[in-house]
Amino acid sequence: MAEFTMELNDEQKEVRDWIHGFAADVVRPAAAEWDEREETPWPVIQEAAKIGLYSLDFYAQQFFDPTGLGVPMTMEELFWGDAGIALSIVGTGLAAVGVLANGTEEQIGTWVPQMYGDANDVKVAAFCSSEPDAGSDVASMRTRAVYDEAKDEWVLNGTKTWATNGGIANVHVVVAVVDPELGSKGHASFIVPPNTPGLSQGQKFKKHGIRASHTAEVVLEDVRVPGHCLLGGKDKLDERLARAREKAKAGGERVKNAAMATFEASRPAVGAMAVGTARAAYEEALEYATTREQFGRPIIDNQGVAFQLADMRTQIDAARLLVWRASWMATTGKPFTSAEGSMSKLFASETAKKVTAQAIQILGGNGFTREYPVERMHRDAAIYTIFEGTSEIQRLVIARTLSGMPIR
Ligand SMILES: Cc1cc2nc3c(=O)[nH]c(=O)nc-3n(C[C@H](O)[C@H](O)[C@H](O)COP(=O)(O)OP(=O)(O)OC[C@H]3O[C@@H](n4cnc5c(N)ncnc54)[C@H](O)[C@@H]3O)c2cc1C
Repeated sequence: MAEFTMELNDEQKEVRDWIHGFAADVVRPAAAEWDEREETPWPVIQEAAKIGLYSLDFYAQQFFDPTGLGVPMTMEELFWGDAGIALSIVGTGLAAVGVLANGTEEQIGTWVPQMYGDANDVKVAAFCSSEPDAGSDVASMRTRAVYDEAKDEWVLNGTKTWATNGGIANVHVVVAVVDPELGSKGHASFIVPPNTPGLSQGQKFKKHGIRASHTAEVVLEDVRVPGHCLLGGKDKLDERLARAREKAKAGGERVKNAAMATFEASRPAVGAMAVGTARAAYEEALEYATTREQFGRPIIDNQGVAFQLADMRTQIDAARLLVWRASWMATTGKPFTSAEGSMSKLFASETAKKVTAQAIQILGGNGFTREYPVERMHRDAAIYTIFEGTSEIQRLVIARTLSGMPIR
């Protein structure tokens, strides 16, 4: 088991600098354009694929980095470049984690490569859990999966919403209800392979921030997928459902559902994205405060501005420490006994919102325009306190974990 360290090793530093170079030279210069276009930046994803930055190999290497720092380091640097473009590059990872968390080795080997495609033909993937009436309240999910034993097929019906890459994905991972009696314990995850009839894109959302990332509804009408598309397999599902039914009868402890498993594993990664956006805005503000002069001196000479920058930097560093701790714990198999994953996401996302707002204030009128990137960073930062569990839900998870109350 890797000891906790805050020092990146030489190899990690090299990778970090390589990602930073791509973020600075390719992502940041393209950010304003794709924010305005509100479209998936396919040429940027292709460039990332060409240098190996958008590939299963690269993410697997970071995901399995024994120190736990590979993923947060990657996220921070890419999202430092631009959050919308970065989400278009790493959004596939959420679907991949859905398969890694619940799938068999064979399923991982079959489907995850198809999520990325290759450098000449890049693909993206989508993880579809949220529904119009089931956001924070995952247990209210209605999308049904019914097993057709004669054909060994699952039939999916329902409407998913807010799916990153929904409808444009090559592979969709869909969470659905297999036993409505069991609430969130009766959910399972399914692969919907490329070009499966019955799956279509619904409304594409016009958003406040991360506008280069595609977010849409996914409609499932009698979507038939082979039995082997049930993540984890039928035997495992039957065992899990039998256990859940026994526990429900005995009124025993709750078990986690399929979507929760994905979200828990990915929360520190979202915290790292928020750190990247916050750091980018802080750097802009620091640079501006040292060069902009009013009353015959740089504005940073005013304590009111300097103290804001001191607070911004302190909070960003604190957020990174929480994220690194949670990532290290998750990688080394330490249980989140105090909901450390949720803590990291809560603190980092709230920090990003606060710091980006402060950056606008420090840039004055310029901060309020699209000539400077901090207004975009502020719009982008608003997503971190919403997706993969809102800040309120993180507080609920932390409080229930600390008090020993059940988490639904
Ligand atoms: C850009 C974007 C991308 C997304 N990508 C994906 C994706 O790829 N896949 C996917 O499945 N989902 C995705 N989501 C969905 C996201 O996870 C949900 O939006 C989020 O979980 C919140 O659900 P909701 O929007 O229905 O809000 P609601 O659950 O309706 O919450 C509304 C408000 O009520 C508060 N609230 C709700 N319940 C409680 C409570 N018990 N206590 C206190 N406050 C509460 C919330 O904190 C929030 O402030 C995405 C969302 C967005 C906006």
